[in-house]
Amino acid sequence: SLPLSLALGLVLPALIIRHHSHKGVLVDDLTTALKRGEIAPVFQPIVDGGSGRVRGFEMMARWHHPNLGQITPDTFIPIMERHGLLDSLLTSLADQARGKLPDATYLSINLSGEQLTHGLRDPISFLLEICHRLRIGADRLMVEITERQALDYDCPQLQETLALLRHTGFKLAFDDFGTGYNGIACLRTFSPDVIKIDKSYVQTINGEAIQRPVLEAIIQLSRQMGVEVIAEGVETEAQRRFLLDRGVTSMQGYLFGRPARWHDSCPLPQPAIA
Ligand code: C2E
Ligand code: CA
Ligand code: CA
Ligand code: CA
Repeated sequence: SLPLSLALGLVLPALIIRHHSHKGVLVDDLTTALKRGEIAPVFQPIVDGGSGRVRGFEMMARWHHPNLGQITPDTFIPIMERHGLLDSLLTSLADQARGKLPDATYLSINLSGEQLTHGLRDPISFLLEICHRLRIGADRLMVEITERQALDYDCPQLQETLALLRHTGFKLAFDDFGTGYNGIACLRTFSPDVIKIDKSYVQTINGEAIQRPVLEAIIQLSRQMGVEVIAEGVETEAQRRFLLDRGVTSMQGYLFGRPARWHDSCPLPQPAIA
């Protein structure tokens, strides 16, 4: 069997690394990174897939770590969410995007369900403040809500907040529709302006098609409810055609443009229209 000292030598460092990355180090790093402006916004066009005309942009975070290089949001957003840092993140991104949004386009931002229900004392004032920092009116802000924990859509208080959001003029979108907790249940008591179909469904257009009926059902359901659809993760001409044939015109994905800093993303590459 393994000598004790060797076993400890293997296990202890692993425990220490785990401990630090889960508690102290990474959170402190993130707080510092925010202060130093290492976390910057990128923008991905949301286009009319028929004409290629840009309708809006989704703003996403990128962490440029001085030693580790670029770190993807999937690794640091959940940590920021757990530690209540997403409000500061959005504020910082908005400051960096100030006044840069092209005329006649909207900006889409990500808000976690947790921020909406627990984190923010007054979501409406906070979002108006974000608009002020961006130098845009409320009617040009789309709020994408993602659930990493299940939201209780039957909760009257949440419904009131969502209704107030729309009443104030913000566009409301349910993000990653059809995955995790963002499913049909959230449409039962509240219909948003937009649902964003998750890219895993768009990918079924090329793939083995077992999930494709679900995609078709989501499109049909949204039409019956009068909810606009944005398809995300559109990468191929076949996907673009399939969606257009079913009346889905708003699209986002590498076919039209990757998330990029403003000077890269404007002017935008034109989509390959057959
Ligand atoms: P999301 O909101 O669903 O954002 C779309 C993700 O899909 C982005 O990943 C984007 O880069 C990627 N994507 C866009 N087009 C394509 C495509 O054609 N093909 C493929 N394969 N991927 C595509 P990203 O930037 O890594 O962000 C991951 C997630 O992290 C986001 O998913 C969002 O939930 C979260 N996130 C990113 N930035 C922020 C932020 O500033 N605040 C908050 N609260 N969440 C953020
Ligand atoms: Ca999103
Ligand atoms: Ca999404
Ligand atoms: Ca996603």
